[in-house]
Amino acid sequence: MHIIRVKDLRKKYENVEAVKGVSFDVRNGTFFALLGQNGAGKSTTIEIIATLKSKNEGEVIVDGAVLGKDDDAIRKTLGVVFQYSVLDKELTVRENLAIRAGFYNMDKERLRTRIETFSSLMDIDAFIDRRVKTLSGGERRKADLARALLHSPKVLILDEPTTGLDPKSRKDLWELIQTIKTETDMTIFLTTHYMEEVLDADHVVILDEGLVKAEDSAENLRLKHASDTLRIVPKDARLSQALKDEGIPFTWKNSIVMVPLKDAFEGLSIATRHKAHFESFEIVKANMDDVFLNITGKELLENGTENPR
Ligand code: ADP
Repeated sequence: MHIIRVKDLRKKYENVEAVKGVSFDVRNGTFFALLGQNGAGKSTTIEIIATLKSKNEGEVIVDGAVLGKDDDAIRKTLGVVFQYSVLDKELTVRENLAIRAGFYNMDKERLRTRIETFSSLMDIDAFIDRRVKTLSGGERRKADLARALLHSPKVLILDEPTTGLDPKSRKDLWELIQTIKTETDMTIFLTTHYMEEVLDADHVVILDEGLVKAEDSAENLRLKHASDTLRIVPKDARLSQALKDEGIPFTWKNSIVMVPLKDAFEGLSIATRHKAHFESFEIVKANMDDVFLNITGKELLENGTENPR
């Protein structure tokens, strides 16, 4: 059962075609990830789904509600944490939540029980009566999360939620997302440019320059699009000659011979046959960065982008 269906979605800004015919389905209760570099079209896609931006073409259906016809129903189904905080900075967190509760016609009792839930989930008590402008980045993101979860949405959309946070807040927030995932049956829809954040995803869609380039579980993407590598530090030139003689393909990287492998056993066998010609070797497992590079021809993290670990 799909809770979100996106079909042939297109969006053009004045001179940029940001989304060029994107289709994907999000299954109910799963952890779904949209992965791509900055500028790939992730936020545009999310903002269209969340009824905040108009589309040029295509169809979006959220829990049976059709975008453009049943937008109120869509807004009730979704809770969204945007990259930028949407809280009123002059007000306290509690006041922000109360305003939001009014938007959903929630009575005071319901608001109180929701705040209790957030207190045990993410320790919101510590800062609920402080003005948003005085909060740290991590606290503000938690307050944004509380706002998004207030009306108990079926789908939680997180647009690059850990971007801009210090490592400790990033880890805390990530653990919180994991808790929400395991303790509720909510569908989680994440956009990110961090590989680490998609490793547990049930389904990953790789978006590049406004197009879907591949989709599958993280593990299947790794199996299909990246190989383990045998890395050898050679003793002399005889190693490369021996590999050539056997027809084994390899490349050089900083004086290290890199042999792509079908599996780790093949690496072991090559290393054993040629052990006279090298100083040391290791077999490196394929990772999701290799997957992204092989699919898009690009590094996921651009120069200067901070790595989460
Ligand atoms: P991502 O979320 O993957 O970083 P975006 O959806 O923000 O990507 O952006 C996709 C492309 O659309 C980029 O080239 C970006 O510069 C452009 N873009 C985004 N918003 C606007 C806008 N309001 N006006 C013009 N171009 C925009």
